[in-house]
Amino acid sequence: MKTKTIKRKKEKASITIRDFFKQFPTDQHCLEHIFTIRFGQGHACPKCERKANWYKIQAERAYSCQWCGHHLHPTVGTPFEDSRTPLQLWFYAIYLFTTSRHGVPAKELERQLGVTYKCAWRMGHEIRKHITQVDGEFPLFGQVEIDETYVGGRKPRNTGRGRGAQGKTIVFGMLERGGQIITKIVPDCSKASLYPVIQENVKQGSTVHTDEFPTYKLLKTKGYTHQVVRHGNGEYVQGSSHVNGLESFWARLKNSVKGTHIHVSKKHLGKYAKEFEFRYNSKAKPISMFPSLVSTFAKPSI
Ligand SMILES: [Zn+2]
Repeated sequence: MKTKTIKRKKEKASITIRDFFKQFPTDQHCLEHIFTIRFGQGHACPKCERKANWYKIQAERAYSCQWCGHHLHPTVGTPFEDSRTPLQLWFYAIYLFTTSRHGVPAKELERQLGVTYKCAWRMGHEIRKHITQVDGEFPLFGQVEIDETYVGGRKPRNTGRGRGAQGKTIVFGMLERGGQIITKIVPDCSKASLYPVIQENVKQGSTVHTDEFPTYKLLKTKGYTHQVVRHGNGEYVQGSSHVNGLESFWARLKNSVKGTHIHVSKKHLGKYAKEFEFRYNSKAKPISMFPSLVSTFAKPSI
């Protein structure tokens, strides 16, 4: 029984390119998909307030009310609003984000989609913003690893935290073993910066694993069980106390930033971290990554 489940999971690990083109053969199919998700036939018209059938208006990304002719624009409030890039290319770009393990640099989008670098860059950023919205965050509980890392800038001369961090962005991570990861950009590693983030994202009663950084000593007084691994003593795994899950997450994030994205500014690093977070959080169900990204759009404001 167990073997069967594993086999089925393997077969359906991710959506194939054939599945993609079968579901979205044209721009029209993409628009119809967005319309159905956000409105759907029978949606009450915001103008005449009657339940209506909606008819696609030719050559426009709009649908018209059967009763009063009012127009609905399904892409308003989505990453595709104000973009003249064909919707199918947008969907395909999203598809690439969900099939790549290391992130999709703008150069790659430019090459695969045949758009300008500027357009590819903008698409990447809009998609990352969208990913941030879709990747919901629930408080973590149980065995939770906490760690922070410095990304970008030049290598610090000394290894002490707080010092040598200039020009670098601090990414703070919380990882529930066997569960989800949450990352946040923090201004520094002071108590005032870290504790509100921990308390908001990790439920009290959890066992929190950290290294020996002094700021974490207070965890015990905040309703957590605290386990320390002492990197300074060359100790990386002490019983179950380690932050290896986060260490490997940091390695993947940093390699990607270094290798494929050339330079990620401080301003945008949070979105890159979220992209990796989403990929990590979806790893148990990669098949749902693409559908969830093209099925979750902000609710229309009308
Ligand atoms: Zn109407």
